[in-house]
Amino acid sequence: MYDIIVIGAGAAGMTSALYALRNGKTVLVLESESLGGQIATSPRLENYPSIKEISGEQFADNLFEQITHHGAEVEIEKVVAVEKLQDNTFTVKTEYNEYQAKSVIIASGVKHKHLRTKSNRDDLVGKGVYYCAICDGPFYKGQEVAIIGDANTALQYSLLLASYCKKVYVYTLFDKFFGDKSLVKALHSKENIEWRPNTSVTDFIGEEKLMAIEYKDADGSIKTHEIPAVFVAIGQVPDNKAFSNLVDLDNMGYIISDETCKTKTEGLFVAGDCRTKAVRQVSTAVGDGAVAATNASVYLESLDN
Ligand SMILES: Cc1cc2nc3c(=O)[nH]c(=O)nc-3n(C[C@H](O)[C@H](O)[C@H](O)COP(=O)(O)OP(=O)(O)OC[C@H]3O[C@@H](n4cnc5c(N)ncnc54)[C@H](O)[C@@H]3O)c2cc1C
Repeated sequence: MYDIIVIGAGAAGMTSALYALRNGKTVLVLESESLGGQIATSPRLENYPSIKEISGEQFADNLFEQITHHGAEVEIEKVVAVEKLQDNTFTVKTEYNEYQAKSVIIASGVKHKHLRTKSNRDDLVGKGVYYCAICDGPFYKGQEVAIIGDANTALQYSLLLASYCKKVYVYTLFDKFFGDKSLVKALHSKENIEWRPNTSVTDFIGEEKLMAIEYKDADGSIKTHEIPAVFVAIGQVPDNKAFSNLVDLDNMGYIISDETCKTKTEGLFVAGDCRTKAVRQVSTAVGDGAVAATNASVYLESLDN
């Protein structure tokens, strides 16, 4: 029986583990994919206080080293269900195992939103259609690539790819970007980035791999653009269905909570991007991790008294 099980090893989950461990609690972190969550896919983190610049991967590695140093147990297993038992403990079910804990912190973050196209070509994901430029961009060094999206992730990906690709085409639905001014300025200063505003990518074309994208141009005409790779960065969505028996979800699927990181179930807490909040960033995720773990520790003390 663990004191606390943390679901998700992103910035929020690992910070939850850190605070819980330093409060003397036993902690198991369960992660379905790869350690670090979203920030591990970011080429550059520049807005985390006191760190001028760090790669997202390095940031995640540092955090992982810190929690294992303090005694965290970590397993790569996807949580498929959480149940609260009559004795007030929790059973956390993964695809392979069942674990018991006195308290649980959900830090499941968000996932990439997939682009729905005319022919629904999800089979081309990983074969020219990608959602992570830091992971798959290097395969296209010296080549031309396209980006779909108009916010910070799309801007960061464009700048990263422009540093080693021949040319980067950026497709946006509107004639403006919705990201940080400094990133927009940097994008406009790059000679090998071509912005295609007021466009809508309607299909991915190719048999075994992507050959071209089809798009509606600003004048309404349908065009094709031969390109070996497209990186989609159109936002994120939460995936909290597995926990809906114990938490309330808003109409977007975020877990309803506030700055206390409590849920409607006593002993069950939530931290990071997966909860209702205005700003989804590393700094707010780690803030939540600290709050959720502290409140979980207070809850555990109340069980002992
Ligand atoms: C490309 C990119 C660049 C970014 N740049 C910045 C930046 O410069 N500055 C900034 O502050 N923020 C940035 N962000 C946002 C920032 O990364 C997030 O706000 C923050 O990392 C959220 O952390 P989190 O732990 O809440 O969620 P996540 O990082 O999403 O982590 C959640 C983890 O939970 C795991 N998980 C989900 N469901 C389950 C389950 N059922 N069982 C087990 N594990 C599960 C996921 O696999 C994931 O690893 C960026 C995001 C991206 C994608």
